[in-house]
Amino acid sequence: MKTQTHLDEPAVVAAQSPGASAQRAGYPSTFLDYQKLSELSRCPAPSASRVGEILEKARTLQGLTAEEAAELAAINDSDQMRNLLATAGWVKEQIYGKRMVLFAPLYTGNYCVNNCVYCGFRVDNRDMKRVVLSMDEIARQTEILLSQGHKRILIISGESPKQSLDYTLKAIETCYSVQVGTARVRRINVELAPLDVEGFRALKKAGIGTYVCFQETYDPDLYRRAHPSGPKADYLYRLYVMDRAMEAGCDDIGLGALFGLGSWRYELVALLEHARHLEETFGWGPHTVSVPRIEYAPGAPWAEVVPNPVSDDDFRKIVAIIRIARPSVGIILSTRERTEFRKELLAYGVSQISSGSRTDPGGYESDRPQDKSAVAASAAQHPAQFAIGDHRGLEETISDLIDDGYVPSFCTGCYRRGRTGADFMDLAKPGLIKEFCLPNGLVSFAEYLYDYASPATREKGLALIRRMQEEATPKGQAYLKKALAETEAGARDLYL
Ligand code: SF4
Repeated sequence: MKTQTHLDEPAVVAAQSPGASAQRAGYPSTFLDYQKLSELSRCPAPSASRVGEILEKARTLQGLTAEEAAELAAINDSDQMRNLLATAGWVKEQIYGKRMVLFAPLYTGNYCVNNCVYCGFRVDNRDMKRVVLSMDEIARQTEILLSQGHKRILIISGESPKQSLDYTLKAIETCYSVQVGTARVRRINVELAPLDVEGFRALKKAGIGTYVCFQETYDPDLYRRAHPSGPKADYLYRLYVMDRAMEAGCDDIGLGALFGLGSWRYELVALLEHARHLEETFGWGPHTVSVPRIEYAPGAPWAEVVPNPVSDDDFRKIVAIIRIARPSVGIILSTRERTEFRKELLAYGVSQISSGSRTDPGGYESDRPQDKSAVAASAAQHPAQFAIGDHRGLEETISDLIDDGYVPSFCTGCYRRGRTGADFMDLAKPGLIKEFCLPNGLVSFAEYLYDYASPATREKGLALIRRMQEEATPKGQAYLKKALAETEAGARDLYL
C-alpha cells in the first residue's frame, strides 16, 4: 500500500469526526445512529480489567455488542492486543476448526458508469483499457479455474449496461454449464451493483450462492465524496441493498467495507450495526464479511494516495474483533494483502481466502503480471481493478496451508443441502458446523489431492487428512471412513 504523502482534506475531516455532518445536515434516518457511531469510533481505551471482561464474554461464543467491539478497537497496550488476537484465534477454532475455504474471482467486465475515486474501473479513468467478456470467454476462464481445482467462483463486474442483469444471468448459466472431466463449478457467488427486489429474485433463480456488496463507507458524508457520480452515488440505495436481497429470498449475503477511506474504527462498528439490523429484521445476519484494504489502482486518486491508511496492527484488530463479535460469520480476505500477512491473518479469524486471483477480465488466460509496478507501468493498458499482493497459485497456497495445519476446503455442502440463511446461523452458532464442515472439507480436499495436486502436495495433504480425521465426531469419523475410501476409488462430489 502506498504511504500517505498527501492528505485529501475532506477524507481526513471525515475520519476525524465521521458521521457528524450527517447529523448536522439532518440526513434521512436509517438503521444507523451516526452520532453514536461517531462517538464509538473515538471512545477511549478501556482499562485492563474491562478488556479482560469483554474477552471473557467473547469466549462464551455469544458475540459482542457494537459498544464492546468499539472498546476493543481502542486498545493500545501490547499485552491486551496479544490477548485479543489469542481470543480471536480460539473463537475461530471453536466454530471453524482448521478448515479454510478457497475460491477464485472471475471478473467478467471492467466497464463502469460509476466514478468511485478509489477504483481503477471508474468512468473518469479514460486510460483504462475496457473489456467485457463474451460467453465463450467466460467459459474459457471457467475451464482454466476448474483445471486448477477451483470449485467456488465469485463473479465480479463493474456497473454498466454492457454488464446488465441479463448479461450476468447468462454469465452465471455459462459458468455453471462448463465441465472439465467430471469437474463443474459447484457454487457461484456474485459481487454486483445493487439491484431491485425483482433483480434479486432473478439472481436467486439463477442459483447464486452468496450475494456480496460492500458499502465501502458507512459515513454518508464521506460516501458522497468518494462517489461523485453515477448510480452508486445514492448512499441509501446501497445501504438498503441487503434488505432488498433478503426480501427477494437471497438467503446468503456478504457485507464489507473498504478500509482506508475513512476511520477504520467507525467502519468496523457500522459493519457490526449493519449485521445487527439484518439479524433483527430478518432473523439472520450476513454469511460473510469482507475486509478489503485499499490497494494501489492507477487512475484512482484515493488508491494512489490512500486518505486514511490502515496499519497492519490495526488490520489485525479489525479481523480479530469481527471474529469474536460475530463468531459464526465467514471472514473473507482477498489477494490484495501480501502473502506473509495473509498467512498470519488466518490465525486471527479469516476463514475464506481467494487464491491465484486475477483482477483483470480475461486475466486467467493472460500472462500480464499484476503486481503494483506492473499495473502502474502499464496503467494505460492494464485492465486490472487493483494490484495484488499475493501471487501464489492455487497449488502453492494449498501447500502452504497444509504446512500450517489448515484443511483447504472446496466444500459447498451447506449451500447445496439448503443449510443457508437462518438454518446456517442456527447450525454455526453453537459450533455444530464442525460436524458437517470438517468431514465435508476433508473429502473435498481429498478430491483435490487426487485430481490436481503434485505428488509431494498429495502426500503431505493425505497425511494431514489422516491426522484430522481423528478430530471428527464419531458420526463424522464413520462417514469419513466410507467417503474417503470412495473418493480414493474415484467417486466425486460427496458431502453430508
Ligand atoms: S468500485 Fe465498482 S462501482 Fe465503483 S468504479 Fe469500481 S467497479 Fe465501478
